[in-house]
Amino acid sequence: MKQHLKKFVALSLLSTVSAHLYAQELSQKDLQLFGNTQLTKLHKKASQSQIEQMNSSLLKETANSMKGGAYDVKERFKSYECYLNPQILAQELKTSGYSQFENPTGIYFAAGDSALLWVGPLNGADVSLVVQEWGPQEKKEAKGRRGERNGHYKLKEGLNVFEIKEGGNSYIRYYADEVPADHFRNNKKKSKGQTAFAPVQVHVVGGRVNGVFNAAKDDNKRWNQLLDNAVSPVMDVVGEQTQLIYSVASLKREAYGKGIELVALYDSLIGHQHQIMGLKKYNRIPKNHMLGRVIWNGFMHADGLGAAFHDNTMVDLANVDKLRINSWGVAHEFGHVNQVRPNMKWVGTTEVTNNIFSVWSQYYYNEHAPKLEREVLRDYDGLKVGGRITAYMESAFVHEQPWLTQAGNDRWDRERPRDWGGDHFVKLVPFWQLQLYFAVAGKDNQWYNPDFYGDIYIQAIDDTVTKDKEDSYYQLAFIKRACDVAKLDLTDFFAQSRMLHPIDLWVDDYTCAQMTIKPADIDAVKQYASKYPKPTTPVLHYLTANSVEQYRKQLPLSGETGKGYTLCKGEGAKKVVDGNINATIKGDYLLVDNSAWKNAVAFETYANDKLVKVAFVGAGSNDLASTVVHLPDGYTTVKAVGFDGTRLEVID
Ligand SMILES: [Zn+2]
Repeated sequence: MKQHLKKFVALSLLSTVSAHLYAQELSQKDLQLFGNTQLTKLHKKASQSQIEQMNSSLLKETANSMKGGAYDVKERFKSYECYLNPQILAQELKTSGYSQFENPTGIYFAAGDSALLWVGPLNGADVSLVVQEWGPQEKKEAKGRRGERNGHYKLKEGLNVFEIKEGGNSYIRYYADEVPADHFRNNKKKSKGQTAFAPVQVHVVGGRVNGVFNAAKDDNKRWNQLLDNAVSPVMDVVGEQTQLIYSVASLKREAYGKGIELVALYDSLIGHQHQIMGLKKYNRIPKNHMLGRVIWNGFMHADGLGAAFHDNTMVDLANVDKLRINSWGVAHEFGHVNQVRPNMKWVGTTEVTNNIFSVWSQYYYNEHAPKLEREVLRDYDGLKVGGRITAYMESAFVHEQPWLTQAGNDRWDRERPRDWGGDHFVKLVPFWQLQLYFAVAGKDNQWYNPDFYGDIYIQAIDDTVTKDKEDSYYQLAFIKRACDVAKLDLTDFFAQSRMLHPIDLWVDDYTCAQMTIKPADIDAVKQYASKYPKPTTPVLHYLTANSVEQYRKQLPLSGETGKGYTLCKGEGAKKVVDGNINATIKGDYLLVDNSAWKNAVAFETYANDKLVKVAFVGAGSNDLASTVVHLPDGYTTVKAVGFDGTRLEVID
């Protein structure tokens, strides 16, 4: 899921092919056989013999089709809306590009086809026809030149006749550099200075009707008809916030009869992102769509055109049931587009902050199977359910590794010749804990804020960016904003996560950079946040989806020392007893019965006063019945921890 750091070269570098009059000039005689200038109907008096004598073979074909009643005017004559130029939108939101292929016409052209377009009043607008091949034939020629192999034909008012150089689906490119009056969804109020850009009417003659599925107007019957009759290898699909260009074969196989549901799910996934970005709360969701398209090389990625997914992934991505169970990849790639840069994408976070979106969507649809808590991954003691979080807790709380360099399953060697780095998913854990605390554990509580991130992101979007700021500025600004938005002093949490921790290292990312945070910087942030009260829990850093109810309902810890666990003697690798998976762990451990240690949020293992192991409640368990608590050599005590910081001795 590598992010391609390709800029907006896709369309801007294209040499514009001016629409030139085709060799075959349109004769007035031909045109007079039509009943209007738009050429949408025949003249009442047009006879079959007159049609047979027409000069233009394209017009003759059209006229014959009209005469026979087979001409699909509805599919060919449409009005197209103006969208804010996606490059300008990207600057405003600090994201990468939303769709550069708005306004699909539903007409598929083959190379060499004649095209005739009647265009209504433009009022000076710059409008083009864009033809883009998205099908498998794109594979050979377009490798490494994604999205650049399209035809771009400038349109004028009235008739435009030209030859299509290269085939593909077609789009009416109609973008404004100023914010159109109808730019914001859910905000019909026209702001001062906003210009109304009237829709442009276009009649596309030539090419073949492939159709467009518009979830706002169409139903699943129409969806099936479109898939059954498609002439292009791909279908243009438009939702409220999503635009998909996926292969017809995959959509037919995975989503037949479910077009509405599929688009609704993508709209919902992108809706979560807009909520986290604050665009929903502040009525700043743009009319522009985010584009997801099929590719025929690679796996999945994000680039200047949007999100891209290999056709092979459609077995999951075009399947509503499967996508609900695992939306991570889709949210991750759209999430790359929506990363607010540089404010929420500083060094070391390119593969992290986009997963704030993924981890939330994944939880939203599967509350009982949260990814980080349930995934079986290697931690410091072997394979374990929730190994990503146990690795995080040990890296941060026990070994005090600075955030951005915390070790875990995907990277144990923090220092490499090129850079210092850590496990991208380990780094995600504190972001996840904040969302859990405010959006989930907060319910019915004073600190509830489902828009915690939205409030932070909107400030990040609106913050003026100057080149002199170092990466540490953005990390510290995020911490301060989190405190401001929560109106809480969260610095203990950030100190525990080692986000607010001294560091002076050359940090890993697509582009590495120095991350320097000095003790004085930390003092300044602590001073800044000291105007706010501390959160109700001193152990926010132990919060997981497993313990969210303990925090939410503020449930007191209880348990009887010496009871409620099994001591397991490690002799090499052992199978976790209650999980029906092949997880193995090394060394001695306690298998704690979670029902005997009610409302524990974590278990700490100490060697005298030193914390040596941490297990969040349910670590190593598929069903939350138990917790695997490690007992490394030299340990002295194990403590159960409650949401309020209460600690009880577990073993005698
Ligand atoms: Zn990625």
